[in-house]
Amino acid sequence: MADNKFTIIHTDSQTQARVGKLRTAHGVVNTPIFMPVGTRGTVKTCTPRDLVEIGTEIILGNTYHLYLRPGHRIIQQAGGLHKFMAWKKPILTDSGGFQVFSLGPFRTITEEGVEFRSEIDGSKHFISPERSIEIQNVLGADIIMAFDECPPLPSDYNYLKKSMEMTLRWAQRCKQAHRNRNQQLFGIVQGGMEKSLRKVSVERTVEIGFPGYAIGGLSVGEEKPLMYETLAYTAPLLPKDSPRYLMGVGTPGDLVYGVSCGVDMFDCVMPTRNARNGSLFTTVGAVKIRNAKHKTDFTPLDPNCVCHTCQNFTRAYLRHLHLENEILAHRLLTLHNLHFYLNLMRGIRQAIREGTFARFKGDIGGLMQLGQTQEKEEMEGKKRKTEEGDSRNAQDGLRTSDYRRTI
Ligand SMILES: [Zn+2]
Repeated sequence: MADNKFTIIHTDSQTQARVGKLRTAHGVVNTPIFMPVGTRGTVKTCTPRDLVEIGTEIILGNTYHLYLRPGHRIIQQAGGLHKFMAWKKPILTDSGGFQVFSLGPFRTITEEGVEFRSEIDGSKHFISPERSIEIQNVLGADIIMAFDECPPLPSDYNYLKKSMEMTLRWAQRCKQAHRNRNQQLFGIVQGGMEKSLRKVSVERTVEIGFPGYAIGGLSVGEEKPLMYETLAYTAPLLPKDSPRYLMGVGTPGDLVYGVSCGVDMFDCVMPTRNARNGSLFTTVGAVKIRNAKHKTDFTPLDPNCVCHTCQNFTRAYLRHLHLENEILAHRLLTLHNLHFYLNLMRGIRQAIREGTFARFKGDIGGLMQLGQTQEKEEMEGKKRKTEEGDSRNAQDGLRTSDYRRTI
């Protein structure tokens, strides 16, 4: 398919970073971009108006959750996901694969697709590449994703190879099943941390041909240097003139690194989930709002932030709300963290346009550390889970089990 939806405006001379515009049926997205995660048809605690005010250009919805509840047919009756949730800007839906594969013993994978039991009522369901695309066609997001297998870590070479090859066959089936021409179907590259497999996965996914490509299977529990190495190897192999999406990653530092490798799109639950846990990203470092030192701190959460939260409320008040588990705490802290991420991306785009991205990357050394402590804690938690049970289930740590735990 000729790629005429994505235009690169500026390319950095020292890194692979680029600024672009991605045209969709619901408007243009400026890249590199961060997509807040709206699992169940809502970015938790935020109205669409809130999201627009902090500069959100595109959000992500989870096919698996929307399929189970309220059901894609109800969303179809509402006129599609945009109308159902009153969000007028672009949406990307994932394929549901990640959540389904995370169900561990409750799912069976075959060449045809995946059979699983609902986490809600134990009912049996079957999602194939065709079924995933059918559901996503009905949901009506602007960008939809191929149904892939995200292999567990660790997986041996043979498993990774077989899984990657099945994902290629599924990608072909997804493309054939795709019926809604207002939607751009992106392919997904897999292959674990094996460079030779990543290379084949890129070549053959590109051969099938998609208007955009995602890098899947990263940030699933591997060590950070290995993730960076795999990313730095894989991203530049993808076609230069197509948008590149790094799925489910990550910290502010990961975003900056990803951009330097030529990635255009990111999503992660980290800013929203951390906000609800009282962990904030600020320009003056990470803040745990529950800490006693904020008890009588009547200054803003981030003195350099122009978000509604920082313009109107103090750390002492936010700490009080958080400790009382007031709903407003979740909302105000979510708004700030998302604003921080979106502002970071605005800064990145500006730096690339002005030819200062390499310096920007160096300057934000402190920023790069943000989120890493929390991430480390999560990784340790995930490793424990891996040792305890099905390793596939452990990958879910960042995406689904945490959704269920919070709010
Ligand atoms: Zn703020």
